[in-house]
Amino acid sequence: MRLFGTRRVTSDYRSGNFTCPQCAAERTYRHRKVAKYLVAFNFPLIPLARLGEYIECAHCQSTFLPDVLVRAGDADGPHTLSEYEKAVRHTMVLMMLADGEVDDNELDTVLDIVNRYGDHPMSRIDLEVYAEQVRRLPQPVGTYLRQVSPSLNQHGKERLIRCAMAVASADGKIDRSEVEVIREMGRNLDLSLHELQSIINAEPEGVGA
Ligand SMILES: [Zn+2]
Repeated sequence: MRLFGTRRVTSDYRSGNFTCPQCAAERTYRHRKVAKYLVAFNFPLIPLARLGEYIECAHCQSTFLPDVLVRAGDADGPHTLSEYEKAVRHTMVLMMLADGEVDDNELDTVLDIVNRYGDHPMSRIDLEVYAEQVRRLPQPVGTYLRQVSPSLNQHGKERLIRCAMAVASADGKIDRSEVEVIREMGRNLDLSLHELQSIINAEPEGVGA
């Protein structure tokens, strides 16, 4: 065991009740903060940097940015998507745009995956408009995943990896380069090799589970 190192630590900040946009009902939440800590003998000693924070619904486990607490009562506003669902849409579109070309087959595959793993239906037009927005602000998938990771809990990260596996196996098999892409995603989401392996080994979950 190394004497000193750094580790990402998630801690509870406070809790309360809110209207969960995902459940569309009053639920208990945990406000959690994610920080990078200096650790000694695996024990967190000193916080080095704040990485992010999120509101987690105790019922559905969806995570949201903290402003959901003030926006939840705004019934007229746009629907607040969970951080997981936003991450699925954004990651899939970045992966689709990565080779510089988008064909109809890719759009169909991404639409299918986004609607299978998301909780709110997206139309073909919605997807095309969104892809056009993302195309204007391109970034590597890894950079985006490192940014979004502190606003996702374990549940959201697992679902995101399953979603990527569904994309990789869309052609009927998962080859070595696709396995490497999924491993890289796991690293960027701060999942340990053990956590990643257990997600890969687990039976696929049902639709939207
Ligand atoms: Zn909920």
